[in-house]
Amino acid sequence: MAITVRTVKRPERTFATELYLVEIVKGLGLTFRHLFVNLYRHSKRALGLKGLPGSVTVQYPDDPAVLGKRARTRHRLLKRDDGAPRCTACLLCETICPAKCIRITAENAPDVTVEKRAKTFDIDLGMCIFCGYCVEACPVDAIHMDANEVELSSYNRKDMIWNMPELLGDVPKTPSRP
Ligand code: SF4
Ligand code: SF4
Repeated sequence: MAITVRTVKRPERTFATELYLVEIVKGLGLTFRHLFVNLYRHSKRALGLKGLPGSVTVQYPDDPAVLGKRARTRHRLLKRDDGAPRCTACLLCETICPAKCIRITAENAPDVTVEKRAKTFDIDLGMCIFCGYCVEACPVDAIHMDANEVELSSYNRKDMIWNMPELLGDVPKTPSRP
């Protein structure tokens, strides 16, 4: 198979380009445009007039974090209509997890149509990279990352491990004292 080589011509560098003057003026124009637009919007709101908010730094943690609709937050395990966990301990999430932070032990389920269920299901959020692969891999939609919790830090590594009752929302996560 013949290979076609295409020669790409570099743009000419003129004296004006070398000076970078046009680009500097353009950059300053953009900066000052944002400055004055935000100044106008903030002044309007300070005077009690309605209008678009200006762009500001979010004063986290004094102000809560504003999360996007599709933000991946803390995992939670889902239940079936009868209240039993949906997880069938297929181990797909554990297998696909690139951080190897899911640990599941399986046992026989009393429901023969399900066959297996998780006996223990732990996620070490201290190792998790929040990639969402576990959610995508789950064939029974048993795990979501929509608990809307992002403040997950703790004083010791053990507290970063969430177990099944905590992930199911049956018991609250109670961190140990520092
Ligand atoms: S989000 Fe990614 S790293 Fe975290 S538990 Fe799921 S698969 Fe593992
Ligand atoms: S992929 Fe879903 S069903 Fe399989 S072990 Fe993980 S959470 Fe349970």
